[in-house]
Amino acid sequence: MKFDICPICKSNDTIELYSSTVDVKKLSFTYVKTSDSGKTFRSVKCLNCSHVFCSPLPKNLYKNYEDVVDKKYLHYVESISESARIILPMIKRYIPKGKILDVGCATGEFLSVARDFGYTVEGLELSKWSSDITKSKKIKVHRCLLRSMVYKNEEKYDVITLFGVIEHFEKPREEMECISKLLRPGGLVVVWTGDVSSISSKILKHNWWYWQGQHIQYFSSRSLNLLGKNYGLKHVTTKIFPFAGTYGLVENSLSRYRIKSFLVMFLKPLFLLKAKWIIYLPGEMLWFATKST
Ligand SMILES: [Zn+2]
Repeated sequence: MKFDICPICKSNDTIELYSSTVDVKKLSFTYVKTSDSGKTFRSVKCLNCSHVFCSPLPKNLYKNYEDVVDKKYLHYVESISESARIILPMIKRYIPKGKILDVGCATGEFLSVARDFGYTVEGLELSKWSSDITKSKKIKVHRCLLRSMVYKNEEKYDVITLFGVIEHFEKPREEMECISKLLRPGGLVVVWTGDVSSISSKILKHNWWYWQGQHIQYFSSRSLNLLGKNYGLKHVTTKIFPFAGTYGLVENSLSRYRIKSFLVMFLKPLFLLKAKWIIYLPGEMLWFATKST
């Protein structure tokens, strides 16, 4: 379709990868995984920068996040804190102290650990339920879009983190520009998202775990580098996100697959040996960039 324009490089040199299979009424915005979790909107690949995106975009998607109540997420908060304890020393190597903004901070686990590491912390979160939990930890939360933060002229941050957030962005260029404006020169941005050009994505095709109805942007390292570069964010390094996997988290993540019970049979004994494994899955990009001074 000639009207598909890449939201990263603006090219219209695109091909359709998948037609829409999603039922908007069944679209999940929580951690609860079902066989419907893998259904997606119509997805298009940009042949110029390798970015994959949903087109047309569903309307008013952000509105859904405001009402999200995700009690399932609370089962996994210790895993998220464990990942944070691995990621924060990596951040410390670049920015040893200062002020962190976590965009899409959910119930504030990362920020809580970041505070223990000596940082001043703030979050941005649309869900009232999640932001109330974060506030109960005495953490400042902005319940607004990034552009409102820029408009309010919030002071500059030393580090901005986005974990499992950028794949939900409706206008990634506008949103990355806001992030750049909120970051001080020399500041660090850290993004965790899937790499649609990774080996895991290529092998699993539409069964790759990132294909979910709530995801509307599928970055490659190339398209993420390009997006950052447009707004003065220079790529520094890409690591693999450290998943602190418990049996419950892994079992839930596999719920979308028909062969779940078969996989669980093999994995369960591993969790009898150790309750939590740090899992490094190919394609789980942990992307670091700094703002030009
Ligand atoms: Zn493109």
